[in-house]
Amino acid sequence: MSFDTIIQGGIVITGDGSASFRADVGISAGRITDIADLSDAVPNTAEVIDAAGMIVCPGFIDIHTHSDVTLVDHPGAQSKAYQGVTTEVTGNCGFSPYPSPDGNSGSVREGIGPTLSSTEDWSWTDVSGYSEVVNQNGVSINVAPLVGHSALRIAAGAQNDAPPTPDQLAHMQRSLEIGIEQGAFGMSTGLTLPPSSYATTDELVSLASVMSRFEHAFYATHARVWAGWHVKAVEEAVQIGRSASVPVQFSHIAIVDSRVHGHGEQLVAVIDNARGSGDDVTTDMYPYTAASSGMSQMLPGWVQEGGVSAMLARLRDPATRKKAHESTSKGWFGGLPFVFSTMVIATVASEENAGLVGKSLEEIAADRGVDGVEAMLMLIDEEDNEISKIMHNRVEGDIRFFMEYEHAMIGSDGNAIERTGIWESSMPHPRFYGTFPRVLGKYVRDEPLISLETAVHKMTGMPARRLGLSDRGVLREGAVADVVVFDPATVIDLATFEDPHRYPVGIPHVLVNGEPVIKNGKHTGARPGTVLKRGV
Ligand SMILES: [Zn+2]
Repeated sequence: MSFDTIIQGGIVITGDGSASFRADVGISAGRITDIADLSDAVPNTAEVIDAAGMIVCPGFIDIHTHSDVTLVDHPGAQSKAYQGVTTEVTGNCGFSPYPSPDGNSGSVREGIGPTLSSTEDWSWTDVSGYSEVVNQNGVSINVAPLVGHSALRIAAGAQNDAPPTPDQLAHMQRSLEIGIEQGAFGMSTGLTLPPSSYATTDELVSLASVMSRFEHAFYATHARVWAGWHVKAVEEAVQIGRSASVPVQFSHIAIVDSRVHGHGEQLVAVIDNARGSGDDVTTDMYPYTAASSGMSQMLPGWVQEGGVSAMLARLRDPATRKKAHESTSKGWFGGLPFVFSTMVIATVASEENAGLVGKSLEEIAADRGVDGVEAMLMLIDEEDNEISKIMHNRVEGDIRFFMEYEHAMIGSDGNAIERTGIWESSMPHPRFYGTFPRVLGKYVRDEPLISLETAVHKMTGMPARRLGLSDRGVLREGAVADVVVFDPATVIDLATFEDPHRYPVGIPHVLVNGEPVIKNGKHTGARPGTVLKRGV
């Protein structure tokens, strides 16, 4: 038998959670064609990767990302490819760059805000159009898109804190159905992020129900984790999945309310009970004690009603600005107290405020002689809402608890970027660059919590199953050759909150669809990735 590539002498972890074993991996025409002792074939093989002392496993599938448009700006997907990620799930937290009303992407772009910042035009209007642009451009890794609920609401003109009209709901249902038919893997919500957050449970059930006839299409939810809602938020997700007969992915599970830190068992009990009743519910998490999002997520829903222009108009009118200040001062997410020293600027749009990146709201407020809430409102106003922050609001014990939870996958909640363009002077969350090697280095090797096989399973087989991808996320004959080779003794993240644009070490080889994207620790420039379609 002959091969295009042999990965020789490594320890194979197949991704299904089973024990590792020593074998060579043969690849032909983009597929894994043999896993065995292939030393006889080595002399006749053009490409032989020496994996002695290394782990050979499926490429990581990042179940939770916001790389929708960064993959257009940065088709090399550097911050993810260097981690061993070979597939990004996009369209999360209600944010997708489609559908667009009447072929005009401007309003969905404005409505989505800084989570999907890009420099390129959004020339597409739907999932197919987006996929075509990404594929024509070329991309180094694969993409599995979701349809975002905020985008559906914006496209239907339902940006108010009210139920959609019957016409608007029908428009959203039809748009979602089209997106799923075009290959999207499911629908996401962002239930602390307007306009998605304006939805009632009933609205979400009516939408999610549209997906029930499509195999594997799932409901991914950034849940309604308001003050006092940490358990109710999981219950709502379970209820929506059950009522709509669709699987549920509970996104980035965490506890952000300091009053209930240490009570992760209350959240997973809801998932375990649902699973015990036959519901297909899983979750994902990232290995950091800080979150990151657009700044405006901290404002009360009424301030954001009607979209970004309406919000900015309120902040620029003295009377409503005063009201916004009063009501924001009551706390975030329905009453959690602000700790401005823990809120650090990650990205801004203007040159004038570039110097604020990396500073806390406490420092900025002191410099400007205003309180923290006013500093926040000023910055949202000055930046036309194009401002994001990092917020240190979690505890390590909860991170370890959720990572160990058997139905939790790893998802970065980060973007595939490189330090150019709008990211040049930004300080993004280090999860963009470090999530997967951090789990492998810190939580498998240095502060042992889970086994290597379990960690890899959480990054490969588990998300592949959620996506319904039968030939990825696994190393077996016939599977697509998305493969990572890493050194278990040295793999680690280097990105920090102070110095986030740093690639990890210990991951010398990453193959996407059989082609090397990272070779001997360097990006090859190859763009073998593609936008995947559900059920194909
Ligand atoms: Zn989210």
